[in-house]
Amino acid sequence: PGLGIGIGIDDLPIRDELRGKTPYGAPQLDVPVQLNTNENPYPLPEPLVARIAERVAEAARGLNRYPDRDAVELRTELARYLTRTGGYEVGLGNVWAANGSNEVLQQLLQTFGGPGRTAIGFEPSYSMHALIARGTGTGWISGPRNDDFTIDVDAARRAITTHAPDVVFITSPNNPTGTAVEAETVLALYEAAQEVKPSIVVVDEAYVEFSHRPSLLPLLDGRPHLVVSRTMSKAFGAAGLRLGYLAAHPAVVDAVQLVRLPYHLSAVTQATALAALEHTDTLLGYVEQLKAERDRLVAELRELGYEVTDSDANFVQFGRFDGPGGAQAAWRKILDRGVLVRDNGVPGRLRVTAGTPQENDAFLDAVRQLKKEQS
Ligand code: PMP
Repeated sequence: PGLGIGIGIDDLPIRDELRGKTPYGAPQLDVPVQLNTNENPYPLPEPLVARIAERVAEAARGLNRYPDRDAVELRTELARYLTRTGGYEVGLGNVWAANGSNEVLQQLLQTFGGPGRTAIGFEPSYSMHALIARGTGTGWISGPRNDDFTIDVDAARRAITTHAPDVVFITSPNNPTGTAVEAETVLALYEAAQEVKPSIVVVDEAYVEFSHRPSLLPLLDGRPHLVVSRTMSKAFGAAGLRLGYLAAHPAVVDAVQLVRLPYHLSAVTQATALAALEHTDTLLGYVEQLKAERDRLVAELRELGYEVTDSDANFVQFGRFDGPGGAQAAWRKILDRGVLVRDNGVPGRLRVTAGTPQENDAFLDAVRQLKKEQS
């Protein structure tokens, strides 16, 4: 009787590994203060908006044609940005771009993972690593962390040696904990990952511009199986643009082209990203403000008596909420005060994204009241 009734997902012949699963779903609720998806709270500055309009108009005149399949101008500019800020010189041949770093990660797993292969991540970490593994038919191994959410190097090395994964994910700074990873840790895990068989090590640096520490980009030197993944969603304040990229040995860039869809990066996307890169310095100025606000959130939450994980990202993990209802009940109470934060499923803990000073004040008011109620 018409479309839309009578049949559910379970009635469809979907792949077994997708059966009974739920899609990625941070709630998109219409509340006054939204601090739940690690977005940048600052809208793009008006001169940049005008420049995007100009560059997109130019691109529109050629939309009857397919876009530059290799995104040469954009990758050249991304390489310039990495070289300028990452402490290591990379060029066009080292950089690849796609629709958000999620697509970059998917292309990496399509290339180096897949059926009969496995990937490992050290959890809690970015949930999409496991979900993209599932979507690409890659087996998932959940590796350990210390109680303070740093990577337990010996245990991680053992897990890599035992399972011999084809892909290793290291997220630095880590989401949802905010924890940065030491260069020595990456090197130890890279070595371990090469011992059994040559594996690809992906360092997910989605939040690195907010870190107190420099980028791990220089570790690419002499390590052809290392990949650094980046995004314009956070530091560039352009989550809606969908532009992610990676830096690696040129052979890795050649390899992902085996799986990328032809013309995957639209001419509009390329034009918009190029406009944003022209305004890098202004956008990195906002990053400095957000870093200061992040540090303020850490300090004030600690003053209120919360347990706070050190953060190198644009968000802060705090707790503990071990009472009745746990983190979920606390999440709801903060939401009742008009502030949306994130329950990532880490027991007793929530995550708040650094917003504008006013948004952060509203959040701090909400958790101050919560603390009073609970004491
Ligand atoms: N990596 C990490 C660690 C993230 O937290 C996110 C966004 N939440 C991404 C990658 C993906 O971001 P995007 O696809 O917007 O680049």
